[in-house]
Amino acid sequence: MKSDFVEKAGLENSSFENPGFEEMGHGIYCVDARYIQHGIACCYLMVEGDQVAIIETGTAHTAEGIAEVLAELELPKEAVRYIIPTHVHLDHAGGAGLLMQQYPEAQMLIHPRGARHMVNPSQLMAGSKAVYGEEKFAQFYGELIPVPKERVISVENGEKHDLNGRALEFRHTPGHAEHHFCVWDSVSEGWFSGDTFGISYHEMGNDLKKHRSDRFIIPTTSPVQFDPDKLLASIDLMMGYNPKKFYLTHYSVLENPEPQADLLRAQIEDYRQIAQLLRNESEREERIHQALKDITLARLSSEQPELDLGTMEKVLAMDLDLNAQGLNIWLSRQEKK
Ligand SMILES: [Zn+2]
Repeated sequence: MKSDFVEKAGLENSSFENPGFEEMGHGIYCVDARYIQHGIACCYLMVEGDQVAIIETGTAHTAEGIAEVLAELELPKEAVRYIIPTHVHLDHAGGAGLLMQQYPEAQMLIHPRGARHMVNPSQLMAGSKAVYGEEKFAQFYGELIPVPKERVISVENGEKHDLNGRALEFRHTPGHAEHHFCVWDSVSEGWFSGDTFGISYHEMGNDLKKHRSDRFIIPTTSPVQFDPDKLLASIDLMMGYNPKKFYLTHYSVLENPEPQADLLRAQIEDYRQIAQLLRNESEREERIHQALKDITLARLSSEQPELDLGTMEKVLAMDLDLNAQGLNIWLSRQEKK
């Protein structure tokens, strides 16, 4: 079932010479994470005066791009005060150890349930190598470096930390992963939402900038901790702040969240129903995968009729594959209860 993902990644040897970065206003910069291919994952720099927070770390391949942006902004290494992965999945936290080495003044802010995996990444590494094998693991993620315990701060729900006087509020947002938090920035009135507010690639709208707000979006239910009720509650919690923006990790900013929130809620309900309807089928995961694909493409063509469905099938292949795996595991967890 992971073949689409692995194949897609294996085919891509495109260089990341200059994926560049985008200034988003309010001192926020979006930097491509150089994960699998350009446009799949990003991280954010928040610059407040002479201090910087890095939100999401990408993988070991991401650090170079971050250093380039800091150099361009003429900010020294010492400016980086916080490194903040939203959760410990490797496209979000795989580069954390390397960044902590490179930025000696930085402290890591992380969900309490993720902290031990940053200090000792052996479990993360073993889990990922079991899925991808040694070679692909190295290609996707590079090396995972442990973060010194004394530089890790476990952040409780509702805790605030300030970056040069700019308050960042942390809310625990389970649903995609139990150890997920999102970061509220009252200056931009935006959430750094990791994977809790879904995935919306640039290709899922018909124009990069103009229709940024209209992009299609899908939830991410990838293994192993998806929980539909918790995910819905986390989306409601975030919408309760009346956000103007969502800074997605996959990918970049959304600026009119209401319709996307509704689209996510509807799809999470679809997912739950599909999984429950197919729970007793043989080859359950394959059946779920097909159903997710059908329903997603149907929704997509009604929301964005101008998009080419063949292209969209390729754009969504990796995530629908992971989402089907995650739903299958969710069903298995229910059965054990
Ligand atoms: Zn992710």
